[in-house]
Amino acid sequence: MKPFAFTKAESLPKTLSAKKETTQFIAGGTNLLDLMKKHISQPDELVDITSMLSDKIEAHKKGIRIGAMVRNSTVTLDANILTNYPLLAKAILAGASPQIRNMASAGGNLLQRTRCPYFYDITTPCNKRQPGSGCSAVEGENRMSAIIGYSEQCVAVHPSDFCIALAALDAAVVVTQSNQKNSTIPFSDFHRLPGSTPQQDTNLPANALIHSIEIPVNDFHKNCAYVKVRDRDSYAFALVSVAAALDLKGNTIQEARLASGGVAHKPWRWYEAEQYLKGKEANAVHFKEAAAMAAKDVKPLAHNGFKKLMLQGAIETALQNCLTT
Ligand SMILES: Cc1cc2nc3c(=O)[nH]c(=O)nc-3n(C[C@H](O)[C@H](O)[C@H](O)COP(=O)(O)OP(=O)(O)OC[C@H]3O[C@@H](n4cnc5c(N)ncnc54)[C@H](O)[C@@H]3O)c2cc1C
Ligand code: SF4
Repeated sequence: MKPFAFTKAESLPKTLSAKKETTQFIAGGTNLLDLMKKHISQPDELVDITSMLSDKIEAHKKGIRIGAMVRNSTVTLDANILTNYPLLAKAILAGASPQIRNMASAGGNLLQRTRCPYFYDITTPCNKRQPGSGCSAVEGENRMSAIIGYSEQCVAVHPSDFCIALAALDAAVVVTQSNQKNSTIPFSDFHRLPGSTPQQDTNLPANALIHSIEIPVNDFHKNCAYVKVRDRDSYAFALVSVAAALDLKGNTIQEARLASGGVAHKPWRWYEAEQYLKGKEANAVHFKEAAAMAAKDVKPLAHNGFKKLMLQGAIETALQNCLTT
């Protein structure tokens, strides 16, 4: 690991205005330290932001606010979340391990980097790690890669489970900029597709911090499910995941939400399938049709054609599970 200076942030204004290109913030460190050990991230200075940011989950009239320093495990134990936003807890519990969830912060979870194997292997070309060097996965080992929304420059997928539930629930990310002002980025605009700049994962402005995450009040708490298909039951990232949520009146769907991980460079919403489900009876026939509608748009690569059927199955299962949870 390259030597670096370590400081503890004492004030937000000073921390933000003093940040240089070679400075990196550290929260739980569960992703950043791995990146540093593998020489992918090589900051000159690490600034510990853990005492600068809220570790509270606060309820308000329009929803809840999760502070950036709330640990992932805290989200899964919070009474209000378990009652009113259980999809968030279900998604987090499908990821990592209890030890990692105890360290990982909400803000850091949103900014964790892809698990594309070439990104972690500094002997191979990778446009995300070294812009302009090429993409080893596009013609290489792309079993884990994207099936939608990718570009020739990068076919990596977004790794988080929490973010898939946040996308389904129409969350928003509150960021504090260097001028001390807070602004809000809708979750659907926070993560980026790779296009010709795959090195940029998000639209978080330079010298800004994630302050908190807002989740609006919703009627999905009774009928929601998270399905994650992966190679192993723990310590494995999604091949395909689905966050599904239904607002039901009797057995009629008032509103549906469907989002996926493991398929694209950002959490992916299946808007057409959601629209199709609106007003329909919640039954297997309609769930199958919605799944087929989502899967028709995907374009698998050489080694991940299996993800298309897997996606359909995961959507059907997640919707079915909404009726039993
Ligand atoms: C073995 C292993 C298995 C895992 N499995 C899963 C899984 O199955 N599913 C899953 O979703 N995740 C998984 N993870 C990833 C884990 O969830 C993330 O590493 C974690 O959420 C990152 O949070 P952190 O606080 O540790 O971030 P850090 O490592 O501290 O930071 C990550 C990045 O975010 C930046 N950052 C952190 N907080 C802020 C902030 N408030 N504002 C601005 N920048 C900030 C840092 O500068 C850094 O660039 C796994 C991790 C490991 C090591
Ligand atoms: S898919 Fe993206 S992260 Fe993976 S090698 Fe290609 S450019 Fe790098």
